[in-house]
Amino acid sequence: MTHFPLRLRLDGAALVANWRWLARRSAGAACGAAVKANGYGTGAAPVVERLLAAGCRDFFVSTWNEADGLPGLLGDGPGGPALSVLHGVQEGDMARALASPARPVLNTPLQVRRWREAAGGRPCDVMLDTGMNRLGISGEDVAAGLLDGLAIETVLSHLACADEDTDMNARQRERFAALSAAVPARRRSLANSAGICLGDAYCFDLTRPGLALYGGIPRPEAAGQIRPVVEVQAQIVQRRRVEAGGAIGYNATYVADRPIEVAILNIGYADGYLRGFSDRGRARAGEAVLPVLGRVSMDLTAIGVDAAPALAEGDWVTLDYDLPAAAAQSGLSQYELLTGLGDRHERLWT
Ligand SMILES: *Cc1c(COP(=O)(O)O)cnc(C)c1O
Repeated sequence: MTHFPLRLRLDGAALVANWRWLARRSAGAACGAAVKANGYGTGAAPVVERLLAAGCRDFFVSTWNEADGLPGLLGDGPGGPALSVLHGVQEGDMARALASPARPVLNTPLQVRRWREAAGGRPCDVMLDTGMNRLGISGEDVAAGLLDGLAIETVLSHLACADEDTDMNARQRERFAALSAAVPARRRSLANSAGICLGDAYCFDLTRPGLALYGGIPRPEAAGQIRPVVEVQAQIVQRRRVEAGGAIGYNATYVADRPIEVAILNIGYADGYLRGFSDRGRARAGEAVLPVLGRVSMDLTAIGVDAAPALAEGDWVTLDYDLPAAAAQSGLSQYELLTGLGDRHERLWT
């Protein structure tokens, strides 16, 4: 077996507990799961497998490549698990889309025409724009009859500011309620993780959490409820002593003011341990807290190990990766912290 020098320990029980909490908060709506970007960096296939077993039936990816990476997970009967492809169908996607059991989420008038002409009445989903101005069909196009005659399973929209307390949330919800009433779809879906926390009125028939499944805290309501899923572990490649006045790493940003013990870890920004952790991140070995010293490099990071005299070459340490805390520390979003985790990590589900 390949030896991976880095690993992510992924807590499958926490993933399922997070989905169950989000499902309970979904006010009677079905609770789906966004598994795009390889399950936010954790591994889409193992996530789908665990959530299917827990009862989740609606999954969302962004592209047809991602859909094709989840073979055999979809039944074809009604009520069977369903996969929706959020980017819809470009011309070059059509052959694969027609061969796939997944549904496109149609976002533009051109995508609607393309599906209408080629798919022979097969079901699709439709995204409406309710003010984010990212993807989706406008209210004018709905009123002009663009969607007439389509077999629409789910009509969706997406909240721009659900992680904030702003009037925009209620305005988007009202716009969605009004617009979607004119769309003959079986189900309506608006809320992502943060949207679920906004309350029952945002949940409609189906919710689509991503971040909170993987341990992200989208809003204060989820704190203490959502459990961490991802633990990042790296190995010591070298341990050394740095004398007073010695500098560490690129651009010598850290200069020791006394003799210190340093360990060099085999993780860096190419693994998703980004430069925002330079001089700010922390690792742990048992009880010992080990600060990042100097710049994070592409493949290596230095930590101070005065507090752990026994740590040696080849030993593993755990990096602090509590998502809200690490986001505050590094200036990165919780989403970036998850999706950046690279493929040099072994992903070990427990
Ligand atoms: C990514 C995404 C989600 C999930 O959002 P989170 O904030 O991660 O919960 C839901 N819906 C759409 C359309 C998305 O693109």
